Amino acid sequence: MQVSHNPNMHIPEPERFRSRPYLDVLDKNSTTQRCRINNDAIHAMHASAARHYPLEACGLLIGRMDAQGWFIDEAREVANLNDERAADRFILDPQAYQKTDRQLAGSGREIVGIYHSHPDCPAKPSPTDLAAAWDGFAYIIVSTCNGVAADTRCWALNETGERFLSINMQDLPATGD
Ligand SMILES: [Zn+2]
Repeated sequence: MQVSHNPNMHIPEPERFRSRPYLDVLDKNSTTQRCRINNDAIHAMHASAARHYPLEACGLLIGRMDAQGWFIDEAREVANLNDERAADRFILDPQAYQKTDRQLAGSGREIVGIYHSHPDCPAKPSPTDLAAAWDGFAYIIVSTCNGVAADTRCWALNETGERFLSINMQDLPATGD
């Protein structure tokens, strides 16, 4: 399955990912919530992440959510407004967010998450990612190494909003054809 880790690829892990502030970002508990995502959305995220390497790509995850988790059928790239630190920070264009939100109004689909890439770093959230995270959103991180997607993982805030839970990703069959 494409959403899993590519075992042939070595993903560098900078020292900071083993530091206390980074480890404190992760909640080790598990959840029954799942992130179901279709192949088109995975392809779009991987292409976006590869295109921007060695800088960070970011975009919106569109679909719907319920008590079981997230159903994502589209990943829509959005400009990363952070020019100065585009290698390790992203600022998603708020105007693009609002435009997409307006377009989707009344469609039954909505923005349910955000993806971004981690060039030459694990697909694990950072303290900066935690500080920017919204309750109820799915956060997909694509690790890119040597310009290709090496690992793709999904995260969401836990009940207290203080840490990220790891969310299992599953293929969502294509619909409508
Ligand atoms: Zn990040």
